Amino acid sequence: MLIEKVYFAIDMSQSIVLFGPPGAGKGTQADAIVEATGKPQVSTGDMLRAALAAGTTLGLEAKKYMEAGELVPDDIIIGLIEERMQQDDASEGVLFDGFPRTIPQAEALAEIAEVSLVISIEVPDDAIVGRIVGRRMDPDTGDIYHVTFKPAPAEIAARLIQRKDDNEEAVRTRLTAYHNQTSPLAKWYEEKGLLATVNGNQAMADVGAEISAVLN
Ligand code: AMP
Repeated sequence: MLIEKVYFAIDMSQSIVLFGPPGAGKGTQADAIVEATGKPQVSTGDMLRAALAAGTTLGLEAKKYMEAGELVPDDIIIGLIEERMQQDDASEGVLFDGFPRTIPQAEALAEIAEVSLVISIEVPDDAIVGRIVGRRMDPDTGDIYHVTFKPAPAEIAARLIQRKDDNEEAVRTRLTAYHNQTSPLAKWYEEKGLLATVNGNQAMADVGAEISAVLN
């Protein structure tokens, strides 16, 4: 009988998707992946927050969904990605962070860019609420801290801000959206042979080491 060997081939000229529930540490791990691969990070959450801060029509339209913790409609998100992927720095693939979040988004992405790897960071729900509610951001650098797990140095503590959707009610809605609309994507990508899972319920450095092992 012929035994067929299947290799997990990562084409580094293609895009990578970082996938996981809110508070899984995607942003932190994305920074390390950007450094390791040279790919630009494309975070739909960051793009929407920038649009909101700039007061664009798109930002204002997205605002009510974001603050409630609900997903922004697919057509808005797909439009943002189509535009972003036309920029020069996206030609060698990008690191998607927080996109796709629905099957229609993943189907649209398949038409726009080639994905060679999907890294799923798995964290149980009961670990997530505390992580998110204690999360704080340095608005000057974008660095993320946590009131208990990663306190900021005293000199910057005063300027830290909390995301509007990092409250318990919005987190529960975001988790529901994740389970209903986003988590089916894991199986979708697994069937395509693209999914690698890592344990996100451990120290950040250990999550990073698992991701490096996947990338190498
Ligand atoms: P994030 O920063 O990735 O946690 O995203 C913050 C919020 O932006 C989410 O709770 C959604 O309201 C919205 N959002 C970000 N990315 C997407 C996406 N791919 N699809 C739908 N909504 C999104």
